[in-house]
Amino acid sequence: MRLRLLPSSFPGSSPAGPEAVDSAVGAPASGVAAQPLTSFLVEGAGAGPLAVDAGSLGLVGEPAEMGRIAGLVLTHAHIDHVASLPMWVEALLSLDRAPVRVHASAGAIEALRAHLFSGPLFPDFEALREADGRPLMELVPFPEGAPFELAGFQVSAFPVAHPVPTHGLLVDDGEHALLFGADSGPCEALWQVAASAPRLRAVVLEASFPERMQAIADGSGHLTPATLATELERVPDGVRVLLAHLKPAYRGEIIAELSRRVGDAVEFLEPGAWVDLGQ
Ligand SMILES: [Zn+2]
Ligand SMILES: [Zn+2]
Repeated sequence: MRLRLLPSSFPGSSPAGPEAVDSAVGAPASGVAAQPLTSFLVEGAGAGPLAVDAGSLGLVGEPAEMGRIAGLVLTHAHIDHVASLPMWVEALLSLDRAPVRVHASAGAIEALRAHLFSGPLFPDFEALREADGRPLMELVPFPEGAPFELAGFQVSAFPVAHPVPTHGLLVDDGEHALLFGADSGPCEALWQVAASAPRLRAVVLEASFPERMQAIADGSGHLTPATLATELERVPDGVRVLLAHLKPAYRGEIIAELSRRVGDAVEFLEPGAWVDLGQ
């Protein structure tokens, strides 16, 4: 099984020119560390690629490459997780893949229908049809409390602590499992799932704000290094902790606080790089 955080800022795209990119803090060899948008790819034993969230999914690669994705599941409908969803759907439509299926919670689907695919921001792709009658897109609600199959994985969704309908996801290929915590403040349910997943290799957590912004983090359902450190006490032995969703403006500050608080107990996901979680 392996995991990739998709890039969401791109070398040479700085408004001030490529030489202006700040590579002082945690910048990867690929160029840019900042990750304003969130999307991941997971590949497993005979499974995937499965995309988790679509912040930048529709911006990375040519349509044919986007068409390799075997399934897409969303943790929630916040814009940093769905910003490029219309572009990804359009890429697959150009490959004659209607209906393009997007899996999400019933609550997230309600938000997407009301606010994204409703006309003013983008057309209603569920109502539009190909000439042969196929709808362009289907928003498919996933079950809660029972695993479902997607792209060759068993996926289990459970609610986490975020102000809108948001789900963590356990993704299991039968040999290894990976747990996405999604955007969330401290979350008991996450650790109950972790404790009951014997094949678990890694958990993907967030650290959105520095500690001086603890009140904003608490109010918006996010972690700081302080609250993350408390959560880390629950990580099962031998399970890696991979971090994403560091707000770009505070990235350096968050990394400095984390190195003081938890040392090398966490790994920062490098945009674009695959992380090997075991064969
Ligand atoms: Zn969110
Ligand atoms: Zn987010």
